[in-house]
Amino acid sequence: MKASIESKIAQRIPSLDLRRNYARIEKEIKEAIDGVLASQAFILGPEVEAFEEEAAMYLEVPHAVGCSSGSDALLLALMALGVGEGDEVITTPYSFFATAGCIARLGARPVFVDVDPRTYNVDVEEALERVSPRTKAFIPVHLFGQMVPLEAAIPRLRERGVALVEDAAQAFGSWRRSGGEYFRAGAAGDFGCFSFYPTKNLSCYGDGGMVTCKKSDAASKLRRLRFHGADHAYLHEEMGLNSRLDSIQAAVLRVKLRHLEEWNEERRLVADRYGMLLAEKGLLEVVRPPEVLEGNCHIFHQYTVRVSGRNELQRFLAERDIETKIYYPLPLHLQPCFKYLGYGEGDFPEAEALSKDSLALPIFPELTVDEQERVVDAIAAFYALKRQKE
Ligand SMILES: *Cc1c(COP(=O)(O)O)cnc(C)c1O
Repeated sequence: MKASIESKIAQRIPSLDLRRNYARIEKEIKEAIDGVLASQAFILGPEVEAFEEEAAMYLEVPHAVGCSSGSDALLLALMALGVGEGDEVITTPYSFFATAGCIARLGARPVFVDVDPRTYNVDVEEALERVSPRTKAFIPVHLFGQMVPLEAAIPRLRERGVALVEDAAQAFGSWRRSGGEYFRAGAAGDFGCFSFYPTKNLSCYGDGGMVTCKKSDAASKLRRLRFHGADHAYLHEEMGLNSRLDSIQAAVLRVKLRHLEEWNEERRLVADRYGMLLAEKGLLEVVRPPEVLEGNCHIFHQYTVRVSGRNELQRFLAERDIETKIYYPLPLHLQPCFKYLGYGEGDFPEAEALSKDSLALPIFPELTVDEQERVVDAIAAFYALKRQKE
């Protein structure tokens, strides 16, 4: 009797459950944090250096510099390039705020171009067309864990002296193979920016971030900039930030990095299963799954579908204890703080359409088959009811 009542009270399905991840690595994490506590060395130090080395090796990039957030990673990369007043930086209007915030904060002008409706990623050809003599950099975002196809853009940007700064905050471990070339997210451009915010696919237990780069002078500059512009204590070569990665976060990240390949693989399995279940239920007319470009290894930081009746569907699922998220409800060109840029509604129709019809379904490595079936069954029930009403 009790069991049947319990089974009727369905468990809540969160969009992300970090507790399940912690349960898998609790012992390793506690040992790692204990090590830092024993050393009483909290800022930068050997844990951060070790993490930077291991992350650079994993990403197949010469240098990695830890910093205090993904937002600062972007800011530090643009500061290292000397971006400032009078400069333009091209990017996508369909991303988290920090992607454009870093540009405006330095007094430069964000220049938006629309996205590809299949991948939700910035349209690279259109970005190249917008390059002007004032363009200092291009910031593509590997949104939701899928790389932007950059192979054709890399030589053309170099020719025109435009730096490539990848926003890889959602794409640690993602890669692309195309035309005989192989790129890892964050290792394709001049700078790669990562966030370890708790919801990211490689995350720490607080704020954290990292910038990767190929040249050693750029790496030295980043290290200086994250420490008030000083190579040596109390001798400041330039204006910098306080943007250091702390040792406890680095110790956590070192543990998690060892498991990341497995977790990213589990995310891909969850994504494949969503695709199968949506097809089985005959939902592909009303629910469009994300497309994966040929040659891409998508790590599914998010599984974002495009649906009709998005807001009603989200409410319907919430009533059934299924949490979903909207990334992003207002594109960047329509944000109040960017009014001065002069953009308006209709300027980027693909990004605007996505902000109205995209819905991120629960995804994390530990999500169970039962839970996924419940999510898809609930979506099917919503559209069955909708058809009845019509
Ligand atoms: C999370 C995120 C950032 C910012 O990272 P924080 O660590 O939160 O500062 C930047 N860009 C994108 C695309 C992100 O998803």
